[in-house]
Amino acid sequence: MSVSRPSVIFRAIAFVLLVCVTLIAVDGWRSWNARAVQLQEMDVATANLSRAMAQQADDTFKEADTALVGVVERVEVDGRSTAALQRLHKILMIRKQELSQLNGLFVYTETGSWLASSEPTLSQKFNNADREYFIFHRTHADLGPHIGMPVKSRSSGKWVIPVSRRINKEDGSFGGVALATIDVSFFSAFYDTLQIGDAGAIALILDSGAMLVRRPYGEVFVGKDVKGTELFHLFTTQSQVGTVFIKSAQDGVTRLNSYRRLEHYPVFVAAALSKDEILRDWWHDTIWHTAGVLGLVVLVGLFGWRLVKQIELRTTAEAELIKARDSLENLNRTLERLAMQDGLTGLANRRQFDVTLYNEFSRATRQASALALIMMDVDCFKQYNDIYGHAAGDECLRTIGRLIKELAARRPGDLAARYGGEELAVLLPNTDVAGAVVVAEQIRNAIHDLHIEHTGNPAGIVTISAGVDARVPVRGEGEPAELIVAADKALYRAKSGGRNRVLFTRRTE
Ligand code: GH3
Ligand code: MG
Ligand code: MG
Repeated sequence: MSVSRPSVIFRAIAFVLLVCVTLIAVDGWRSWNARAVQLQEMDVATANLSRAMAQQADDTFKEADTALVGVVERVEVDGRSTAALQRLHKILMIRKQELSQLNGLFVYTETGSWLASSEPTLSQKFNNADREYFIFHRTHADLGPHIGMPVKSRSSGKWVIPVSRRINKEDGSFGGVALATIDVSFFSAFYDTLQIGDAGAIALILDSGAMLVRRPYGEVFVGKDVKGTELFHLFTTQSQVGTVFIKSAQDGVTRLNSYRRLEHYPVFVAAALSKDEILRDWWHDTIWHTAGVLGLVVLVGLFGWRLVKQIELRTTAEAELIKARDSLENLNRTLERLAMQDGLTGLANRRQFDVTLYNEFSRATRQASALALIMMDVDCFKQYNDIYGHAAGDECLRTIGRLIKELAARRPGDLAARYGGEELAVLLPNTDVAGAVVVAEQIRNAIHDLHIEHTGNPAGIVTISAGVDARVPVRGEGEPAELIVAADKALYRAKSGGRNRVLFTRRTE
């Protein structure tokens, strides 16, 4: 069964579309997956970053605080004699040298004046009673560490983060403050070594909402109040560890923020990477991929378009070929018919008669069956033409031909033919003389009964004469032409015997 044209084209288009959609879908899915993986990896990376920062900050504060614990204990136990203070001075200097994060170590009296410091010489010109940490310890009996707001050091002029502890007198009343100041630049230097891209940010923030250190660094950020930020809000209301995307109120950049509170101190760190930077490689990759896939889709589309055009062309050509073949076959059939048929009467022509006679003669020989031939000739036809005209003669022959066809060619093997001029022949296989004479008489009578006027014929109407011969051919003896000669002889006798009659050859002749 042939596939119809629209269905083939539809299938070709559907296939090409399916390929294109699949290409796009697979690449889209791959890209989306790659994006999710990239974000997931960065989630882990920022969380690790904040963990490392928290650890570093915790260690930094812990070291300074441990030094303070020793100092407080020494002041409380050794007292404030000149010798004790000299020893304390030495220890403070050693500690400062040991701990690189320290800007200085200081001990203040209950009035805020300097009792000892890690400086080479003890300065007496400053009073620190106004500092936030000093006021805090004077007003709080708590003996734990306190991390204060960043201040500009009175001794070095640098921004420092104060870590302090209260010193008690023997009676438990306020006896002063031990202070360690940590360089803001110590943190900055560490933060500068971390890879956070161009738009990344890092911050160290007090639980109270004051910023201690920030990268990118700026003096305006030191001590800045960040209580209003989304990150601080999350930190105070949700959890002390988290990773979240936040659009910065400062610069409008969306960042992946990871924050974590220090284990031992009221401080938390936040590391943030720009979303654009996190996804930059992915974008790059996706653009190339998309361009590649689109190129491929265009190629497949072009290929599909060509394919459809080819199918259209081919099917059109096929249809035209089939049409041409059909008309050629029709023509052939017509030619074949024309080649075998007589144009005037529609009976078999002489050529077909000769071929059939030969074939039937052979078959009759093989089967040892009788083959009969009736030769007929219209009586006085020359006169008919002369009297009624040639056209009427033709019409008369047509009428006789129709009749003979009806009466003679009843069995499949029978053949009625125009032998030539107004002579007609009927070939009857498996028929003996008697049978053939019956058929010939039927024809003669039927023509007679037509009563076609013919004043030139003694009968007054159109009549025919017929000669019949039949025989069972024997192999090696006789040939088809003899049948014709014999039938013709009988016909001749019928003519000379008065016409309008059927005669046959007697075997004894
Ligand atoms: P007979 O009874 O002895 O057969 O007399 P006849 O006139 O028929 O004699 P003959 O057979 O010699 O003449 C045949 C005539 O048939 C000659 C010709 O004019 C006519 N004839 C032969 N073929 C055709 C044809 O195709 N059309 C017409 N109209 N006439 C034909
Ligand atoms: Mg004749
Ligand atoms: Mg005749």
